[in-house]
Amino acid sequence: MPLRSPLNSQRSLILTLVVLLGSGFLATSLLSYYASRASIRDSIVNTELPLTSDTVYSEIQKDLVRPILISSMMARDTFMRDWVVAGEHDPEQMTRYLNEVMSHYSAYTAFFVSNTSLKYYQAKGVLKKIDANEPRDIWYYRVRDMAAPYEINVDPDMANKDNLTFFINYKVFDYKDNFIGATGVGLTVDAVIKLIDRYQQRYQRSVYFVDAFGRIVLTGAQGGPLGAVIGQSLKDMPGLKDLHDKLPRPQTGSFEYQTQGQNHFLNVRFIPELNWYLFVDKQEDGALTDIRQSLYLNLFICLVVTLVVMFLLHRAIGRYQRKIEAQATLDSLTGLPNRRGFDLMALKAMQEAQREPKPLAALLIDIDHFKRLNDDHGHLAGDEVLVGFAQDLQSCLRQSDIICRWGGEEFIILLKDTNSASAQQVAEKIRLLAEQHSYTFSATSLQITVSVGLTELQPDDTLHSLIARADHALYRAKHTGRNRVCMERARSQFE
Ligand code: GH3
Ligand code: MG
Ligand code: MG
Repeated sequence: MPLRSPLNSQRSLILTLVVLLGSGFLATSLLSYYASRASIRDSIVNTELPLTSDTVYSEIQKDLVRPILISSMMARDTFMRDWVVAGEHDPEQMTRYLNEVMSHYSAYTAFFVSNTSLKYYQAKGVLKKIDANEPRDIWYYRVRDMAAPYEINVDPDMANKDNLTFFINYKVFDYKDNFIGATGVGLTVDAVIKLIDRYQQRYQRSVYFVDAFGRIVLTGAQGGPLGAVIGQSLKDMPGLKDLHDKLPRPQTGSFEYQTQGQNHFLNVRFIPELNWYLFVDKQEDGALTDIRQSLYLNLFICLVVTLVVMFLLHRAIGRYQRKIEAQATLDSLTGLPNRRGFDLMALKAMQEAQREPKPLAALLIDIDHFKRLNDDHGHLAGDEVLVGFAQDLQSCLRQSDIICRWGGEEFIILLKDTNSASAQQVAEKIRLLAEQHSYTFSATSLQITVSVGLTELQPDDTLHSLIARADHALYRAKHTGRNRVCMERARSQFE
């Protein structure tokens, strides 16, 4: 199995953590987003829209019940019936009566249409004569022929600047049950429009009414949804066409539709008194803006946290790795580079020296009779001497020189840009320093001497051949009495 490089395993560790962290964050953010969305949708569909619908409906009922009662009383009023039966002699009596009703009950208008004279009486006098060919008067003939005692109609009121008005149209009969006309009151839909506006603004929803033919009949002051105006058919509105096809009886209830990429929730309620449908429409987007923003914020925070964690992890691992790498190339006792560290630096220095070319000298140093020192004073004393001697060695060298604990009590030094003559001086300095220095361990003074093998780099040298020559020189130093420097010249130099 191929070994993975530390860099690769570091990358895959960070990647795994980021994927784990990221997917965990993403999953929790999305889960909470979808949970909130579901509960918001649920509350819109099952609570908010039906509640609005209920309130608007009960408000309308409240506004309609009173006028229906007033109109019913007018239709049963003996004065009205007697006056008609007696031949409608004094119109002023009728207008006075209608004016009384209007002002006393704060109605918008009060009217009577006689079936005999076809005159339209209202509080200010006789308005006009009803004409069967006039589209505005169709309502009268409809009322005359209908079976129910009254109807509620919404029409522009001619007597009041064509304001949209709810009319309660009550049939009036004489005492023998003959139809003698229609009476009732009208009330402005302003109150309903205000109510619609209030709901639309406060809760960001559209409230409007649709008749049985699918036409919008009443909206807030600003118009219907998506700029729809009164009179516009649902079938011309994108998204609502399907619903229109289900009319005239869409099931009262909740619907969902899409238009311009937006999801809409719709609550429909049939209002039997008006034969209209009340539509309460809410755009999903508006309702979900807040939680969508909190989702984005969540994801942003997750991203920042993930990036920060990734950065910190990367830094910590990098630092740790560099520390381990440094430790792997250093000797733990003396703090000098070990063979591993040395190899890297030595090869580089040799290549430079051979390329330029420049001289380079190698010194192999071995402490004399070190075994005896260990035996006499203990291993710890030996260690102390090794540490002290390593410091002495460093004090004799330049920054650019390369030093290494070669093993045991042996050290190797590469002197850059140094020929054998200069190297000999350095070696001698080291030898003298070792000889003169007293190392102290547990109040005991310890003396050492060192033997040094010296050689100079040759153009065809390898690191191995260079060290072998230095070793050979050291061997000679040992065998010629120790505490000395021996130089080994390359073979070519002997010739
Ligand atoms: P020579 O003059 O021929 O070099 O004799 P020597 O005793 O120095 O050489 P030898 O190779 O016989 O012994 C080296 C000794 O160095 C043996 C070993 O226990 C000791 N030694 C090696 N590494 C350490 C170390 O890290 N600490 C201590 N205290 N002793 C060490
Ligand atoms: Mg040795
Ligand atoms: Mg030795």
